[in-house]
Amino acid sequence: MGSLVEKSKYSPEINAENYDTIGMLCLDTYGNLSGSCTTSGLAYKMRGRVGDSPIIGSGLFVDNEVGAATATGLGEAVIKTVGSLLIVELMRNGWSPQKACEEAINRILSKHIGKPDFQVGFIAINVAGEKGAYSIHNGFSYTYFKSGKAINISSASAY
Ligand code: ASP
Repeated sequence: MGSLVEKSKYSPEINAENYDTIGMLCLDTYGNLSGSCTTSGLAYKMRGRVGDSPIIGSGLFVDNEVGAATATGLGEAVIKTVGSLLIVELMRNGWSPQKACEEAINRILSKHIGKPDFQVGFIAINVAGEKGAYSIHNGFSYTYFKSGKAINISSASAY
C-alpha cells in the first residue's frame, strides 16, 4: 500500500518579471478616493489558490478619509503582512505614502531570511494627493495620470 501522504511540488514562482496585477488608485476632483485591483494570479498556481488581489486589506485597501494602497507580486507575502491595510493605517498615523510603502516592504523583508527571490511592489496615495511606491526588487514602475498626462515613474526598491 502506498503512502497516504502526497507531497506537493508547489513552489510559486514570481520574480521581478512575471507579476501582472493591475492596481489602480484614483483621487477625483471632489477629493474622493477609489481603487481597484485585478490579476490573473500566479503562473502555474495551485488549483484553488487565492492570492492577495481579491482580499480587501491585502491586495487593496481604500479609506476615503486617509488614503489608498494596492499591491502586486507574490500574494502570499502580501497576505501575511496585510500590506495594503498596513500602508493606509501608517498614513492614518501621519506617515507619507512613500514611507508607508517602504515600511510595508520592510515588514515583508523582516520576515524573510536573506534576499527574497520574489517580487512585491506597492503604490499608495493619500487624500492630499501625495503618492508613493516601493518594491523589493528593481524594475517596478507605475503610471501617474493627471490633467490628461500620463507619466511612467520607476519606483525605488530595496534591492
Ligand atoms: N499578486 C498576484 C497574486 O499573488 C500576482 C501578481 O501580482 O501578478 O495572485
